[in-house]
Amino acid sequence: MKTISDNMWLYSRFLKELKSRRPNPSTHKIGSSESGEPILGFVFGKGQIIVSLVAGAHADEPVGPNTLYRLILEIMDHPERFQELFGRFRLLIIPHVNPDGDAANASWITRWPELTPFLAGMKRELPGRDVEFGYPAMRPENRAAVGFWEREAPAHLHFSLHGMQFSEGYLLLINDEWEKRTRTWRRSFDSMMRKEGLLPHDHDRGGDKGFNYMGPGFTSTPKGTAMRKFFLEKGDPDTAALFHSSSMEYHLGRNRDALCMVTEFPLYLVKTSPQNGLPENYLALKEELKQDPGQAAGLVPRFGIRPIPLGKAMRLQRRTVRKAMDLAETNFEISILFDAGN
Ligand SMILES: [Zn+2]
Repeated sequence: MKTISDNMWLYSRFLKELKSRRPNPSTHKIGSSESGEPILGFVFGKGQIIVSLVAGAHADEPVGPNTLYRLILEIMDHPERFQELFGRFRLLIIPHVNPDGDAANASWITRWPELTPFLAGMKRELPGRDVEFGYPAMRPENRAAVGFWEREAPAHLHFSLHGMQFSEGYLLLINDEWEKRTRTWRRSFDSMMRKEGLLPHDHDRGGDKGFNYMGPGFTSTPKGTAMRKFFLEKGDPDTAALFHSSSMEYHLGRNRDALCMVTEFPLYLVKTSPQNGLPENYLALKEELKQDPGQAAGLVPRFGIRPIPLGKAMRLQRRTVRKAMDLAETNFEISILFDAGN
């Protein structure tokens, strides 16, 4: 039986839910999208550790926004559950940074997990329009987010919640600066995901476009600098110029010790290939979809395609954020100890 938590919401549904609770959503307005939709920012907690959460940059990845919609509503409905946490942390949340993209993907989001409407209707913005690579000021959406963040102290932890259409398991992106400091944490994260039935999506891209491999399931976060370099070296300065900074680079510009992460959990899992750095099954599926993008028939059994139920997908996002908050807090406390000696 389908429960309410299995229904993927559109941004408009979140705005409606928010209105029914008061305060009026306009209290949280931090800017407008190109088509005039409100972009909202929420601040919760009084703690010393600043955590920034943003979702929706790629609007064909709706699990991140859905996770934040429901988190915000839960905080409003049950503040007592978060009291202790908010004594230690301050959360800055932009539940959807690209509402126009959400509307453009509405045809399949409301019918998810049906595969045919998804393949026929999913829309992704190309470089030059891609909100994740538009910081600080490419689009009004980027300027709204930056204005909101600038009013607060620099974040210790920044998360951009993303997703993949298909993958063989979990993929988590971590900024290069934290490669060493997350080694133990990554092992513990891996066992948490395995308990949820997800193996790592093991793809070693050999540092292609600045995505450095940190072992099965982990890669470095995207960098506009690396994308520009990649296209410049290919002799394509026009494409290079379409890449600005990612939200991770923006936050690292304010706090170079920040921990930045990008969740890349799939809408649909495919069969896991032998873990050798090459997700053969996933790559074969991508190739078939490239030849015939609208073709769903026959793909499901051949590639073992199955959706991750939304309730579970949102839980994975939340648990990842929560686990990273613990890591950021530990690191922050250690740095206070050292600073105190100066
Ligand atoms: Zn994405």
